[in-house]
Amino acid sequence: MLKSDAIKRSALACLDLLLPPRCLGCGAIIDSSSRLCADCWRGLTFLGPPICRSCGYPLPQAVAERPVCGVCSVEPPAFSRARAALRYDDGARGMILRFKHADRTDIAKTFGRMMERAGADLLEDCDLIAPVPLHRIRLLQRGYNQAALLARMLVKDGRGRVVPDLLQRVRATTSQQGLSGEQRMRNIKTNAFRVHPKHRNRLADRRVLLIDDVLTTGATINACTHTLIKGGAVAVDVLALARVVRDEGGTISRDNADRSLLMSDSPDLETVNRKRSALDAQH
Ligand SMILES: [Zn+2]
Ligand SMILES: [Zn+2]
Repeated sequence: MLKSDAIKRSALACLDLLLPPRCLGCGAIIDSSSRLCADCWRGLTFLGPPICRSCGYPLPQAVAERPVCGVCSVEPPAFSRARAALRYDDGARGMILRFKHADRTDIAKTFGRMMERAGADLLEDCDLIAPVPLHRIRLLQRGYNQAALLARMLVKDGRGRVVPDLLQRVRATTSQQGLSGEQRMRNIKTNAFRVHPKHRNRLADRRVLLIDDVLTTGATINACTHTLIKGGAVAVDVLALARVVRDEGGTISRDNADRSLLMSDSPDLETVNRKRSALDAQH
């Protein structure tokens, strides 16, 4: 162990004695190192099979050995596979927001373990691990990139596969909060990501695992994926801490309504298109 690590650890141990750890979900004093009390653990919804083999969207039931959701069967995403550990719901929202905005970075290790379970195959297959980048100005304001923090917590990274600055944002975007799915998409599309010049030679024929905190519409990860593929990556997978499943903010209702269509390996495109038209008519 590095000396600085040892010092940091004993400093943290002293701090724990002075300030007993509090649950990240409810603030109750806890004695567990997981940073969550038993009730808050129980409030989390872990995502698992059956899920869309492509985007990881939870499906009501498995109708095929490798099921695919309605959206992916009509329009496959740019990335190969996306997985998320948790459903972004009432049980997860508060703690993720505190992790992102209130310096509760102590939960990162626990979140990392959850992600390792959800993305074991993806971690096994990847050559490089890269977080979705924050813009420099936002990074200065917040002091850390939560996705980079999560990437570093993945112990299966084999030490050396994580490249925190593989991607860069080249333009600051206005905050995504409060924007509709379509507005987000536009916001992201006009915002270019780029492969950091110093890593340009590392991407050829590499499989990259992108790390993000919360998947919403997929616009950000699609834009990152396009950039990585253009830079030479052979494929891109995505691993997130949580994903939005139902319409919870009015921004993704169409997306989710579409995804509720369960498709087998040979999708009935006619049904999909009919449902799509019906949804379009509602909007
Ligand atoms: Zn709690
Ligand atoms: Zn899908």
